[in-house]
Amino acid sequence: MPFDIIAKPATPDSNLPDYDAVCAGFSWEAARSELDGLPGGGLNIAHEAVDRHVAAGRGSVVALRWLGKQGDVRDFSYADLAAATGRFADALTRLGIGRGDRVFSLAGRLPELYIAALGTLKCGAVFSPLFSAFGPEPVRARIERGSGRVLVTTPALYRRKVAGWRHEVGSLDHVILIAGPDDELPEGTLNFAALLDAGDPQFPAAATKPEDMALLHFTSGTTGLPKGAIHVHEAVVAHHITGRYALDLRPGDIFWCTADPGWVTGTSYGIIAPLTNGATMIVDEAEFDADRWYATLQDRKVTVWYTAPTAIRMLMKAGDDLPKKYDLSALRFMSSVGEPLNPEAVEWSQRVLGRPFHDNWWQTETGGIMIANYASMDVKPGSMGRSLPGIEAAIVQRREDGGVEPVEAPMTLGELALKKGWPSMFRGYLNDEERYAKCFAGDWYLTGDLAMRDADGYFWFVGRADDVIKSAGHLIGPFEVESALMEHPAVAEVAVIGKPDPIVGETVKAFVALKPGFEPSEALRRELQGHARTRLGPAVAPKEIDFRKNLPKTRSGKIMRRLLKAREFGLPEGDISTLESDEA
Ligand code: AMP
Repeated sequence: MPFDIIAKPATPDSNLPDYDAVCAGFSWEAARSELDGLPGGGLNIAHEAVDRHVAAGRGSVVALRWLGKQGDVRDFSYADLAAATGRFADALTRLGIGRGDRVFSLAGRLPELYIAALGTLKCGAVFSPLFSAFGPEPVRARIERGSGRVLVTTPALYRRKVAGWRHEVGSLDHVILIAGPDDELPEGTLNFAALLDAGDPQFPAAATKPEDMALLHFTSGTTGLPKGAIHVHEAVVAHHITGRYALDLRPGDIFWCTADPGWVTGTSYGIIAPLTNGATMIVDEAEFDADRWYATLQDRKVTVWYTAPTAIRMLMKAGDDLPKKYDLSALRFMSSVGEPLNPEAVEWSQRVLGRPFHDNWWQTETGGIMIANYASMDVKPGSMGRSLPGIEAAIVQRREDGGVEPVEAPMTLGELALKKGWPSMFRGYLNDEERYAKCFAGDWYLTGDLAMRDADGYFWFVGRADDVIKSAGHLIGPFEVESALMEHPAVAEVAVIGKPDPIVGETVKAFVALKPGFEPSEALRRELQGHARTRLGPAVAPKEIDFRKNLPKTRSGKIMRRLLKAREFGLPEGDISTLESDEA
């Protein structure tokens, strides 16, 4: 190993002081008994996250400390959140929204977004967050596929991304706008603040059952449109316990998860887990800025910080002197997720910030952290850590009969698999049973990631088994980008790949073959880029477009993205026996 192990502290201050002992004594039933549940066997995430604390006399603790872009700060105690989410749940109920109905959000990190998320769960409906930097097409595709009945958004986002198609999506009954006092509301929309005013702050959490659908998170695959991963209220058991073990959360912590709630991390660990664990969560409305981030850690006395490799690399780029200007002594635990955390970043954090980032691994489908580095364990820079108590992770290889076999020999390459049955495991892809079934082999859920495990049980990420792109921690499906480019009249064929990037991990690159009558030119390249940006939004649109006469295809006509990638980066071309046309 090229990087030195960072030895655990001599007297670790950790919620998991003895990993082996906790794993041996762990049961999901015991984990569940730490939560309240509802009378009659019900379980509701909003109750566990908010109302439970109020009932136990902790209502005055700050649950959400919101930092506005302009420096304004708003605090919401657990009691405030209980009342606001009650009001929103009541408002939804009066609009005829109930069990199983889908409520989407499309907003920046505003307090109302958090109220909407928890209020939706409280009313028994299903919350589905969208990333506010998506363009109109990804927004529409997800709301349409999810049969969204309600959308909570802002007037500006509504005008830019929704108004153009709203009436073509029949399921979308209500649009609720988070508007300022002077905003004029477009026709056919409702005012979030007015709905809250009229709602009942005492509205009790709906008596949802543990297996009732609670969250719908869209995620991308190699082929087809985004898939809606279904999570149920029972997932809160995993959110809670993984928050405790993998993020080391405790009551009284000041916790800052920098992920946007438009993505799964920003919901499981940017809303639910910190609240069930009784912490105060910091929500910063502003985008990344190294100075602002260090100042936030210092001024807000953040004790536990959960961020992502892209942000860490940007902090590294901002220099080693900058953090020295700040007092970061309140920080107890730092962790990272979403993409491979390079060992250099772990080594940097130990040297410059005085503590290591603890990498952890999970994905939309797992609903919660599955593999992590813990405060009480040596950190091996470059490793994702060991599986959570209650989680059985393995490296498997496929057998010829379609089954899989766990491999025991250390550092053998295979697919990362998890023994099914943990509470936050996704329960399906919405309306796509076949795709869901394909994710499993016997008792194993196959993650689609390639990895290895060493003799000490630490997992090492190797790569993805598919063509999905990870850019700044966001999963991007090549098919969605290709489909948007194909709409342009000049485009005959297109393939999209991830191009390695030192800061954001990968950027989106497209290869385009033009229709007869069109010639490659700088002007056309810019036009295609503009087209993609308008349709998809800047977070998803390709940063680079190259023209090709033809794209390499298999005999069955599938474009070989892998081959394009190998050629682009001078990698071995692998098996090209199925290659049909190949005129570069
Ligand atoms: P998402 O479903 O968008 O959360 O993306 C999940 C995928 O991100 C995983 O399947 C991995 O490919 C990648 N990922 C997440 N965490 C890590 C990590 N700690 N190291 C490497 N890759 C990661």
